Amino acid sequence: MSMVPPKNAELPKQASLRGRFAPSPTGDLHFGSLVTALGSWLRARSQGGAWIVRMEDIDPMRTIPGSGERIVAALNAFGLESDEAIVWQSDRLDLYESAFKALKDRAAIYPCHCSRRDLVQFDGIHPSECVGRRKTRTPAWRLCTHDHPLEFNDAVYGPIRQSLRGEVGDFVLRRADGVFAYQLAVVVDDAEQHIDEVVRGADLLDSTPRQIYLQTQLDLPIPNYLHLPLALDASGHKLSKQDRARPVDPSDPMPALHTALTFLGQSIPPTNRVDTLLTEASERFDSEAIPRSAHKHAAMRKD
Ligand code: GLU
Repeated sequence: MSMVPPKNAELPKQASLRGRFAPSPTGDLHFGSLVTALGSWLRARSQGGAWIVRMEDIDPMRTIPGSGERIVAALNAFGLESDEAIVWQSDRLDLYESAFKALKDRAAIYPCHCSRRDLVQFDGIHPSECVGRRKTRTPAWRLCTHDHPLEFNDAVYGPIRQSLRGEVGDFVLRRADGVFAYQLAVVVDDAEQHIDEVVRGADLLDSTPRQIYLQTQLDLPIPNYLHLPLALDASGHKLSKQDRARPVDPSDPMPALHTALTFLGQSIPPTNRVDTLLTEASERFDSEAIPRSAHKHAAMRKD
């Protein structure tokens, strides 16, 4: 993936903008996810738009029971409330199934028995044909990719270019255990929920070309993308719920909100009230002030 450092793009005002925050319920809300929640809320509100929470509990192996509810309670304590009923991906399997079927009918996907081990000789990049040595009872399903580089313009990171076949390879849309991949579910949901702009952490910059390609394969609209800098721990790793990054304290929201605003390059409105702080911060929100992090250090997602 290549990237030219730009000046952050000036974002056009869009009164009906619909933004979203889509956490995976794999642990409690930590500072990194608060930054993403706040950044997406501010960006939507600064445009007078709606902000929608979607719970990405598509993978039962990673979901921690109760953490989705705790994330929502923590968001509310930080003054961040979804404008619409929260949708849970586990309730929407029919939607993913029909997108999957549409791709299958078009022969855009194929069954594959390759394990991670089979792909080691290809540096983890799928060679566009199944080379699996052991046939599993049920295969995974991969999307055929092509050679043409995919490009998009991220509102913070600027022009991004990636060759899917060369840099990612044919990627999994449904795992051998039947679970739909994040890449498929996120694209279906963003379209079904009419999301105009996806604001999320820069660890997902690498996934965006896959999602844009999938949107074109499914004839879905392509939203705008704005990736936020990642909060890293002392050793330079992304804070993550699975690694049990210290949760933020919802009983004392102000300090974490101040730190998150500063992290996003925004000034801090002088008030003791959470609602006033958020409203004023959205009025003075400046997307050009968002710093860019060294996203290359973020682990690339292969799911
Ligand atoms: N559920 C994903 C995560 O928590 C985020 C997906 C997205 O914003 O596209 O990492």
